[in-house]
Amino acid sequence: MTSPRPDGPWSEPPAQGEAIEVAEGVLWMRLPLPMKLDHVNVYALDDGDGWTIVDTGMSSNKTRRIWEELMAGPLGGKPVRRVVVTHHHPDHIGNAGWFQSVHGAELVTTRTAWLFARMLTLDVQESWPEETLAFYRSAGMDPAIYDARVAERPFNFSDTVYPMPLGFTRIKQGDVLRMGGRDWDVHMGNGHAPEHATFWSRDDNLVITGDQILSSISPNIGVYATEPMADPVAEWLEACERLAPLTRPDQLALGGHKLPFFGLPHRMAQLIDNHHGALARLLDHLDEPRTAAECFAPLFKRKIGGGEYGLALVEAVAHVNHLYHLGQVDRSRRADGAWLYQRKG
Ligand SMILES: [Zn+2]
Repeated sequence: MTSPRPDGPWSEPPAQGEAIEVAEGVLWMRLPLPMKLDHVNVYALDDGDGWTIVDTGMSSNKTRRIWEELMAGPLGGKPVRRVVVTHHHPDHIGNAGWFQSVHGAELVTTRTAWLFARMLTLDVQESWPEETLAFYRSAGMDPAIYDARVAERPFNFSDTVYPMPLGFTRIKQGDVLRMGGRDWDVHMGNGHAPEHATFWSRDDNLVITGDQILSSISPNIGVYATEPMADPVAEWLEACERLAPLTRPDQLALGGHKLPFFGLPHRMAQLIDNHHGALARLLDHLDEPRTAAECFAPLFKRKIGGGEYGLALVEAVAHVNHLYHLGQVDRSRRADGAWLYQRKG
């Protein structure tokens, strides 16, 4: 059963297999993730004769079993007709293909999200691609962590994303999507994932933010071997500044992780300021030549554990890349292949 609707925001998430009705016809549910960030939020919007769900969790037998419980329980046995995916990361798109091929649902997402997810699920590697290893060495990855990684089977997108059949419906900037009895303006985020969709209700105060805007953690902004010179920090800042004028204090933000929250204008300003602060500290830190892996202290201001190392490293590369593209640092190769960055002048 659906829990009674409190005024929100909520201090506790829905229990596994249960839903909280955050607004009329809009259910908030959670699926587990096997990592430090141990959950992802998913939403169901009541379209009358069926449901639209937003995001799907990471692919596993366990998450699909929970979906079956949710469909039989809080979703009342009505079919999931449409799956809207905010961005291509496995915790969001992981079960989209299952809803398409097993439940006959339509997949609605951005072109970049679909292309990235389908490309990566087809790219199955039994051993580490040399490009990925070179990328890790360029970033100055800790040798012990590098050796341990190389000894294991590489991460494969196909391990965490259900096979994606051909065919999807594209959404893009400026579209209006009807779901849950509301019209939603589609605005593109960027930086955390390319072409990340966010949804802004025209009819009430709801905003589905995905991972573009989160309440109590800052979305990871990373550079990967697919595009080693990418500047997602610039893309992130551009998107935040473009989305900020759409925010109002009364809006309820429904994000991909953590709790729904009020106070979007303040949160946007905070997220932007945090990155400017981190970039300023990083530039100071680079008065000596350092690798990306040697830049955790000024960026994160806390100790990075083994389980967070990979995300911290890609985020560090994103920030040194940004300073490099701004022309504020130079870089040179160390003998072992790592890039050393240093402040100019
Ligand atoms: Zn994500």
